[in-house]
Amino acid sequence: MTTPSTRTRFAPSPTGLMHLGNVRAALVNYLFAHQHRGVFILRIEDTDAQRNFDLGGKQIIEDLVWLGLIYDEGPGKDRGCGPYYQSERMPLYQEKLAVLIKENKVYRCFCTEQELERSRQRQIALKKPPRYDRTCLALSADACAAELQAETPFIWRMKLDDSLSFEIHDLARGLVRFELKNFSDFPLTRQDDSVTFLFANAIDDMTMKISHVFRGEDHLSNTALQAALYHAFATPLPTYWHMPILCNSEGKKLSKRDFGFSLNDLRAAGFLPEAICNYLAIIGGGTFEQEILSLDQLVSVVRFDNISAAGQVRYDVEKLRWLNHKWIEKLDPHELTNLSMPFLTAAYPAVAMMDQAMITHLLQTIKTDIVTLADAVQALHFYFNAPTLSLGDITHHFDHQLPAIQACVMEHIESITAVDSFLQAVKLSAKEKGIGMKPLFWFLRFALMGQQDGPSIHDLITMLSAEESYKRIKRLAE
Ligand code: GLU
Repeated sequence: MTTPSTRTRFAPSPTGLMHLGNVRAALVNYLFAHQHRGVFILRIEDTDAQRNFDLGGKQIIEDLVWLGLIYDEGPGKDRGCGPYYQSERMPLYQEKLAVLIKENKVYRCFCTEQELERSRQRQIALKKPPRYDRTCLALSADACAAELQAETPFIWRMKLDDSLSFEIHDLARGLVRFELKNFSDFPLTRQDDSVTFLFANAIDDMTMKISHVFRGEDHLSNTALQAALYHAFATPLPTYWHMPILCNSEGKKLSKRDFGFSLNDLRAAGFLPEAICNYLAIIGGGTFEQEILSLDQLVSVVRFDNISAAGQVRYDVEKLRWLNHKWIEKLDPHELTNLSMPFLTAAYPAVAMMDQAMITHLLQTIKTDIVTLADAVQALHFYFNAPTLSLGDITHHFDHQLPAIQACVMEHIESITAVDSFLQAVKLSAKEKGIGMKPLFWFLRFALMGQQDGPSIHDLITMLSAEESYKRIKRLAE
């Protein structure tokens, strides 16, 4: 089997639920792989057992399916580079560590947390960048043997060659140069023998033959260290794109406190996966003639060859809402019904007993007014709940005209089963009595739905049925 040359991966740590930063990383890796007829891989980085929250990355996998970002290779889809859970790849990391030990590229470090902290503070006081002071690199063989004899816990550190510098290729920044003398000998293992993110992540990228690594720019300095690992294994580096971090409207890194940071929140608020992917793919990257784009269309139009290195990408909820509204309008009527059902049944248990065609009809009538699926609940409130407004609440809207409006509505109310002619007749007699159309319609709206905004009067009567409309109008008119 030949290995396609473009291989990207989404490598989340299951330490929390998916947020927009993760989704964007997954999406960008997916789009690039598809654009280059490559392979999009999912790898679950679960080496930190204590912080694992989403066991087996189950939620992550469900989220990716929901978003339509289907991976080609990963858990349950082993194409020869598995397992795809880092927790199952320990033998590989041990094997690679053994190579580094044999080649004298790593050393044991027995320093305690307190000692490391003291050394850090000393360096800060001396205005030096904090760097591991290499106490343990200087240990004699005897001293090291004595520590081992005493069973002092230790970790393995990478021995960086200060004379080396590396250039990495970043799609937005071009060639980025790092000098190893500016970095610390970094840990490859922890005292409990588990491996660090830096080590496992680089070994996996190497052995999974990842050609492109697209991740947040907070990983840029990690890349410098990982380049040292690639060098140690004489493996060519992938191409990178360190993506700008998503920021809120104040320019601060997007966080839990910002609405829509968590994918679950967006889903619960009735955002569609199409809109979320569409939004995340078009922000901060070029101009698009047409902005409503499906995943397939995004694969063809998103460009990776002229990415600007602009500092931040603003998360603009209003733009996302606009796109969501557009995607809702595009939904096939039955799909809109299916997707809205969970929201509607939770709010109005009666929906479960209703005819599907009726629900579809209701949703089609209000869909231009809603931005998210959850908005359908409010938009249909009037249908499930007769208005509680009384005449007293609304008289100030009509001045002295109210009695005349009431009279002209009551005059024709019996013909409401024929909506068109009912409305014609009421309008005509309002005109004769010198009543404006505006107050007349206001009156009918208040009677039917208790508020001003919403579907047309004609639609309202059809939605509610003539019988129910009759009751509501009569209640307010009498
Ligand atoms: N597990 C890392 C994270 O979630 C992966 C970073 C990377 O893509 O290399 O931040």
